[in-house]
Amino acid sequence: MTATYDGIVLGAGHNGLILQAYLGKAGLRTVAIERLPSAGGGLSTLAGPRHPGSLHNTHAFFLRAVTAMPWYRDLELERHGARMIEPALNVALLTRDGRALEWWTDVAKTIDSFAVFSRRDAETLRRWHDEFVPIVRDILTPESRAAPLPPDERRARLERTGAGRRLLAVSALSPLRFVEQEFEHPTVKAGLLFFNGLREVDLRLPGFGHHIATLLASPAKAQMSRGGSAALARALESAVRESGGEIRTMTEPKRILIEGGRAVGIETADGDLIRARHLVASALNPQQTFLDLIDDALLPREIRDRAQRFRYNLLAPLFALNLDLAEPPRYRASADHPELAQAFMVIMGLDHVNQFTDIVRHHEAGTIPPTVMWGACPTQFDPSQAPPGRHTAFMWEKLPYRVGGDPGNWDRLRDEHGRAMLRLWQQHAPNLAEAVIDSFTRSPLDVERELPNMRHGDLLVGAFANDQVGYHRPFAGAGNYRTYLPGLYLCGSSSHPGGNITGLPAYNAAQVILADLGLKAEWMPAPIASQLAAI
Ligand SMILES: Cc1cc2nc3c(=O)[nH]c(=O)nc-3n(C[C@H](O)[C@H](O)[C@H](O)COP(=O)(O)OP(=O)(O)OC[C@H]3O[C@@H](n4cnc5c(N)ncnc54)[C@H](O)[C@@H]3O)c2cc1C
Repeated sequence: MTATYDGIVLGAGHNGLILQAYLGKAGLRTVAIERLPSAGGGLSTLAGPRHPGSLHNTHAFFLRAVTAMPWYRDLELERHGARMIEPALNVALLTRDGRALEWWTDVAKTIDSFAVFSRRDAETLRRWHDEFVPIVRDILTPESRAAPLPPDERRARLERTGAGRRLLAVSALSPLRFVEQEFEHPTVKAGLLFFNGLREVDLRLPGFGHHIATLLASPAKAQMSRGGSAALARALESAVRESGGEIRTMTEPKRILIEGGRAVGIETADGDLIRARHLVASALNPQQTFLDLIDDALLPREIRDRAQRFRYNLLAPLFALNLDLAEPPRYRASADHPELAQAFMVIMGLDHVNQFTDIVRHHEAGTIPPTVMWGACPTQFDPSQAPPGRHTAFMWEKLPYRVGGDPGNWDRLRDEHGRAMLRLWQQHAPNLAEAVIDSFTRSPLDVERELPNMRHGDLLVGAFANDQVGYHRPFAGAGNYRTYLPGLYLCGSSSHPGGNITGLPAYNAAQVILADLGLKAEWMPAPIASQLAAI
């Protein structure tokens, strides 16, 4: 069977769907090819088979500033059913001695919480916040929403303004150096570096010092999707279908068809030919796109080598413990801090910045460090995610993919480790001893089995190292969503600005593809070079 479309998108995660919806809005007829029975990728919500009505978000849950994303507005996702919730006490780090370091959506309250630990650190937070707000607004946010400039051109442009020079100076530090230099309290330092780890940035790497200052200044707080993360995927699917797009689930590509030096379609694993008049866009990782799907004889050696070298998990992927509960966790610390009853993301096991040295050593050795974990009880904010009177909750921990030297060990160690996490959780929330109705765990190996683009369980679909970010993501020469092959584009998390539910790799790829096709769209931002020149 042969079908013809204007464009084919490989992988219907949120990036694939966002690209498809933008192409559809521009009048192109598209199809997405997805190996799982439903679209959404990391926007997935599992309906617990043992407890009907109980929903578990097995991948992405904390969705950062989704309502501020351009695609959320352009694709009118609320008209398509999306609803986001943004709890005011956004993050709370519970210390062993019963204290809580709190991040609020209201920065003044966050500063007050820092002051309980250190007045000097609270003042430092205020200073960096005020200085970096315009840098985030005028430089970093626009840069994340555009194809990256070549590094020399970027540097030259940034050096023309005070804000740009400041950003370059702070970036030259490592996150660890930045935190050590600027902050004094070990728990405050630990909390700040924790967020750096969430972004999978190695705290020792120079070039990423601005991450912490950005975090302090960013208006982008954690949100959750009402009805579960998959509800956001359903809204995206609805936008795709409204724009005339099709989604073929339970279908895998076998190879990309190349004729006359152009990508002209795909052959599926079932032997169907799907032809593309204009483009094939891959939301898969570079190994899948270039090594698995392109005939070796048609792949330049340099591209093959670069795709082979693309690295995953600079730090460590995620392990998850998921609970069905008769009541929400009631934290001991809420006796002194009643506001904790409404805390969204809760962090436990982290008191001192020195713990990171130990954690990094364990990750590198493939061993399990003393637990630092974080998670939430979604049903406290959205009762629709469990039957009446019931709750769900989860905790995540960063743990090595090759535990004991072999990822296969996870199938044996998984439940035992889940019990260890539950013990730590109970120390902070003693009511869990009685409240747990059921539980299950998911290891980094389970993540890879479900979403093979997340190689080695890497939730960001590729490590953040200096040679794999911005213009160099996934590798030098492929940082602008185009590839060596005309008609073949990249649009997934292995491209700038990387993983998580940002939708920006797709948003940026849509700009590049439509420009290449000579199509204009009213939603397109001004070119990044002119935005930087206007600062
Ligand atoms: C445990 C866990 C927790 C996470 N928590 C968060 C969080 O709180 N917040 C956040 O922002 N992010 C989180 N993430 C990361 C986030 O889920 C990913 O970064 C994001 O989903 C990447 O989006 P994507 O569209 O690029 O790729 P994906 O969401 O991975 O989508 C890729 C799609 O391609 C499909 N596919 C793969 N291989 C093939 C193939 N050969 N043929 C056809 N289709 C294929 C997949 O089935 C999938 O649908 C988490 C991830 C994990 C694993």
